[in-house]
Amino acid sequence: MREESDPRARLRADCTRCFGLCCVAPAFAASSDFAIDKPAGQPCPNLGPDYGCGIHDGLRQRGFGGCAVYDCFGAGQQIAQVTFGGRDWRREPGRAAGMFAAFATMRHLHELLWHLTEALALGAAGRLRGALLDAYDEIERATRGGPDELAAIDVAAHRRHVGALLGRASALARAEVHGPRPDHGGADLIGRDLRGADLRGASLRGAYLLGADLRGADLRRADLLGADLRGADLRRADLRDSLFLTQQQVDAAHGDGATGLPRALNRPTHWPADGSAGRPGGRSAGRPSGGRRAGQPTNSKLDS
Ligand code: SF4
Repeated sequence: MREESDPRARLRADCTRCFGLCCVAPAFAASSDFAIDKPAGQPCPNLGPDYGCGIHDGLRQRGFGGCAVYDCFGAGQQIAQVTFGGRDWRREPGRAAGMFAAFATMRHLHELLWHLTEALALGAAGRLRGALLDAYDEIERATRGGPDELAAIDVAAHRRHVGALLGRASALARAEVHGPRPDHGGADLIGRDLRGADLRGASLRGAYLLGADLRGADLRRADLLGADLRGADLRRADLRDSLFLTQQQVDAAHGDGATGLPRALNRPTHWPADGSAGRPGGRSAGRPSGGRRAGQPTNSKLDS
């Protein structure tokens, strides 16, 4: 792993260097997040010839809110520019199927690198540094493989291994918190009233927090890996050093200017500065105006 000023720079989506892969590769079923059915490998009808989204500024209003929060962790530009060397699926349709399959694999790998980067920065997890670095380097090497090498990768095995490592890193980090550190891993907390709750050091890994009221809750050092925060109310909540929170989770929630976020994440532009209810599903700060997002679940669960 190289020392860089922003070690996650390559893991941030750059739609301008992609060929709309997230708008073509996955299949989507019509739902509250995606207005239409779309088979895998078929371009969304809103995808333009320049690979921009024709309804980018009205995704949510048009029923494509899932697109507004989707994050490929930089897998799109890696596949388009590195794995396939700038050759796009429209001009070389014979490569399309391989490119779409590789995109799915790359997204998993980049997501794991994102979380491993965070774990490596946790002082409390110092004793795991060697194992975390080994896992990071192995996955980073895999991301530089060609299409055939990517196709042979056992993604599930990588996810199990990294999930276990992150679980150990999380336990070490949360052990430093004084207090009850409740275990809500995988819990059904849908719509639950958790206003002002002391959730410091809690395990909320894989928890279902859809629509939960977390206004003013203290989530410092809470493990939110894979937690489903769609529609959760995070106004005035403190998530500043929460663990394994992603931009996608934040974008899918309500929040405001008083919501404390980890430094690596952007405050969604659809969150109001005051305490009025911000609507989930808008664009995050820093995303290019020509960006595209495909409707996907907003959480990704790893085994532990
Ligand atoms: S962002 Fe969504 S609506 Fe726009 S082109 Fe992509 S899949 Fe279609």
